[in-house]
Amino acid sequence: MRLSLHFTLLLAVLGSLISLSLSLALSLSLFSPPLPPAANKGPSREFGKKTPSALPSTPGDSHAGKLFSMEIVDESGEIRITGFNQEVDKFYNLIEVGKVYYMSKGTLKIANKQYSSTKNDYEMTLNGESSIIPCDDASDLPVALCSFVAISDLASHEKDAVLDVIGVCKSVDELTRLTTKASREVSKRTFNLMDQSGCTVSVTLWGEEAENFDGSAQPIVAIKGAKLSDFGGRSLSASFSSTVMINPDLPEAFKLRGWYDKEGHAVEGQSLTEARGSGGGTTNWKTLSDVKTEHLGHGDKADYFNSIATIVYLRKENCLYQACPSPDCNKKVVDQQNGMYRCEKCDKEFPNFKYRLILSANIADYGDNQWVTCFQESAEAILGQNAAYLGQLKDSNEAAFEEIFQQANFHTFVFRSRVKLETYNDESRIKATVMDVKPVDHKEYSKRLIMNIRKMAV
Ligand SMILES: [Zn+2]
Repeated sequence: MRLSLHFTLLLAVLGSLISLSLSLALSLSLFSPPLPPAANKGPSREFGKKTPSALPSTPGDSHAGKLFSMEIVDESGEIRITGFNQEVDKFYNLIEVGKVYYMSKGTLKIANKQYSSTKNDYEMTLNGESSIIPCDDASDLPVALCSFVAISDLASHEKDAVLDVIGVCKSVDELTRLTTKASREVSKRTFNLMDQSGCTVSVTLWGEEAENFDGSAQPIVAIKGAKLSDFGGRSLSASFSSTVMINPDLPEAFKLRGWYDKEGHAVEGQSLTEARGSGGGTTNWKTLSDVKTEHLGHGDKADYFNSIATIVYLRKENCLYQACPSPDCNKKVVDQQNGMYRCEKCDKEFPNFKYRLILSANIADYGDNQWVTCFQESAEAILGQNAAYLGQLKDSNEAAFEEIFQQANFHTFVFRSRVKLETYNDESRIKATVMDVKPVDHKEYSKRLIMNIRKMAV
């Protein structure tokens, strides 16, 4: 019986991960076919080819208690193969991920699914009679058997599902190091993967895979056996049993490369993973001149947009008013001039009031400026003081009050605004109200600028 198997990827060097009693544990990931139980009696089997790049590290001193494992693949499927002790000495250095081999006389047994994500009910062990011979003429053999799931479909899979994905590395984060509960330091790196569905998902790599990963040239990345998590929406993690392939020799990869270089690079991508701190969802970024040229707010409904702009003027006159002290009522009260304040809305008189802010600000970016109205929370965020303190200061220390406005000038924020055309006395004009003010996340902002530059380069 002849089977052509296919070595695909070096997975990871497990070291002491498998068991402390083993002096060595290596894991290669190759891929192979579902073999019938009788296959172990076959005299010779054709082995697969390794495609990916990584080389197994040396197994170390040869004394008892070591093993390596690999996954092999051919056109029909994949299987996991494990070699122990003498077989490690005999075969380990011969095997290169991505090369093709003939193999014969392995021992077949039922797969232990706990230790393997290989899609095969059987696994194979090398024995004293096994042989592995490199096959030099095997260019027509398949590379890896992956059943890729579209990124847009990830949401329909259960948490902890093990899936194959392929996409373009759209952006990549810095390497970080963290300490595990067992006090071991581990490297971690996250990148965004996008496919033709226009969706992106955050993928986390660990250990050496994270350290060696270079996403700067926006490679195609295929991951066989990535684990789906529901952390922050949907995200993926490449565990030690996953196989990460950079620019793999796969038709899907060539298709993606063509699509990305032609049009995909200009697609912003809808993320399945919420960006930390930004609240997720799609953000309608506009410059202040976009707001005018696109006539935002002129429709039946108000328009909402985000912009990064700098405070150029704050109108401190009438920025504070005396409001009803009842919780949830911010109606302006009427000073009865007898120590009492009347709220028309509550139809009640109170011996006190609370200060509320309604601040007019002129904000500007490189292209234009815009008058906006900021209420309580957003005005407090801009001024860096609360309304009660400002009210107190206004009446007691005008210089200090003035100083707060001076200090707040020329600070840059992310403004989320609402615009709507309003008509007073037959005169229509755009009214812009700030819904939210946040500090600028420069890393996120830079990413967006780089994205915009790419779009312009189309
Ligand atoms: Zn009231």
